Amino acid sequence: MTGRVVFIGAGPGAADLITVRGARRLAQAEVVLFDALTDPALRELAPAARWVDVGKRGFCNSTGQATIDALLVRFASQYERVVRLKGGDPSVFGRLEEELLALAAAGIECEVVPGVTAAIAAAAHTRRPLTRRGSGRSVSLATAMTREGRLQAGGPAQIRSDTEVFYMAGRQLGALGRQLLAAGWPADTPVCVVSRAGWPDALASDHALADLAAAAVLHARRPTVVTVGAAARPVVAAAKTTARDGAPARATAVTT
Ligand code: SAH
Repeated sequence: MTGRVVFIGAGPGAADLITVRGARRLAQAEVVLFDALTDPALRELAPAARWVDVGKRGFCNSTGQATIDALLVRFASQYERVVRLKGGDPSVFGRLEEELLALAAAGIECEVVPGVTAAIAAAAHTRRPLTRRGSGRSVSLATAMTREGRLQAGGPAQIRSDTEVFYMAGRQLGALGRQLLAAGWPADTPVCVVSRAGWPDALASDHALADLAAAAVLHARRPTVVTVGAAARPVVAAAKTTARDGAPARATAVTT
């Protein structure tokens, strides 16, 4: 028997951020391979399925990528409906390429259901549109980490986007700020740091690029995205926005 694998973006946080299509496919799953950053409450959508934790957090690889690839292929030979549940959107820093290749090599059919990526959830949390008419025409989703785990950020000014959103940089905010300054971003560039976007305890803070290191303590040990440039500018004052909707954030630090 050869099953089918559905990659589902779980969204960045609370279980209700999954799409309706994602929830429907999940409900049909016989087996679910899930990541560390997905909400345990999602289990309620597929209570009868076998749930397999293949979570990876930061640099501690609890399950190596090759093992996950092999598990997907194995489960697709044992079950008809396999779900690969990923945090955020599967196609954004989600190792989707490797997993699609492994399944293609084994001749296994698959589908990808999109999800809300962390950058979008951070924009929603802070009510800061990712694109702005005139000033914010381009956005890039970037990882600050190379494959070898080195920090690398900041291209030449000519190829820079108006807004750059950095994933996986939470542990190196000071170094990220220094690299972007060295790459020519102005010291007073607005930067918005959001951790646990989409969760009830999401936290946002504002900084000038030169002071980005100050965000490290506030967001320590939390999944964090860093929005640099046009989209980091508040549309309305930050303190007001958090207060208005029942204050989802624990605190809003404005250091600029
Ligand atoms: N596929 C995911 C990203 C996986 S890479 C997505 O589309 O969102 C993991 C990185 O995503 C983390 O290091 C962090 O930078 C970011 N991230 C994931 N969940 C987050 C959240 N709820 N809030 C802020 N950043 C998050």
